[in-house]
Amino acid sequence: MSVIIALDIGGTQIRAASYKPGVTIATLVKKIPTKSRENSPFERVVSAITSIWPKDEEVICISAAIPGPVNPETGVVISAPNIPGWDKFPLVQMLQERFNVPVYIGNDANLAALGEWRFGAGHGHNNVLYFTISTGIGGGVISDGHLITGAHGMATELGHVTLLPDGPQCGCGGMGHFEALASGTAIANYVAGKLAAGTPSRLTPGPNLNARSIADAAREGDALALEAYSRAGHYIGLAVANYLAIFNPSIVIFGGGVSFSGDLLFEPMHKTLKNCVMDPAYLENLEFATAKLGDDAGLLGALALSIYKTKHDN
Ligand SMILES: [Zn+2]
Repeated sequence: MSVIIALDIGGTQIRAASYKPGVTIATLVKKIPTKSRENSPFERVVSAITSIWPKDEEVICISAAIPGPVNPETGVVISAPNIPGWDKFPLVQMLQERFNVPVYIGNDANLAALGEWRFGAGHGHNNVLYFTISTGIGGGVISDGHLITGAHGMATELGHVTLLPDGPQCGCGGMGHFEALASGTAIANYVAGKLAAGTPSRLTPGPNLNARSIADAAREGDALALEAYSRAGHYIGLAVANYLAIFNPSIVIFGGGVSFSGDLLFEPMHKTLKNCVMDPAYLENLEFATAKLGDDAGLLGALALSIYKTKHDN
């Protein structure tokens, strides 16, 4: 027997899991913190792999989801803002030298798209548009059965297109990006700004002001909270209309915590989408779905990448 080792490397935690070929339930899962005083994040990754390395079975490959852009050709992590030292970091080469098996890496949002396509809500589709809406906005696109990665692995940064040139500043430094208008952070910042300007609301400024508390207030009828979700939903509709014109998907999948707010976000989204889509034909038979893989999106995305690489490289 043989196993595939999948890794979900995050800023706070590394999850490692081993899978038998053809099985999506992990045989073994191990979680360890990414940062420690004793050793580097790379050494933490090595210990996570070593802790689940099988005693008497062959390892087919190691496949990892990375929280930042990666170059799939060179195996270099271009940047990972939450992992110290991982700037132009040659992760694939270093892991291959250590473990002597093929190593594949991908951006976590791209791999979540790949995982949803292979094992989740996108199964059976060949053209998938996937968004994860949480503190930021990430995404991935499957086009004609291929994961789009681009010339340097930096394609489909769906959250970092400009929707409002004079709009608020984005986490990346740009102005008026989709993420700065519709992420959980954007919703909270919008409400904080309105509260500071004296808009009446049951919400109060402070650490408890976040996308979830604002969704709760919106469900209780708070006008400012409703407006904040309606505004975010509007920008999601605008972004989706643009992406439909580029990718013409047959399904749009939403993952990430903010997407659990449901109709608060998606009613205004559909309204704007209908008004802004270039041709109603884009909406014919277009499915909308919520992501199915939840917390396992990273691991199952990495597993999907190993299957995808084995198929496309041979
Ligand atoms: Zn940005």
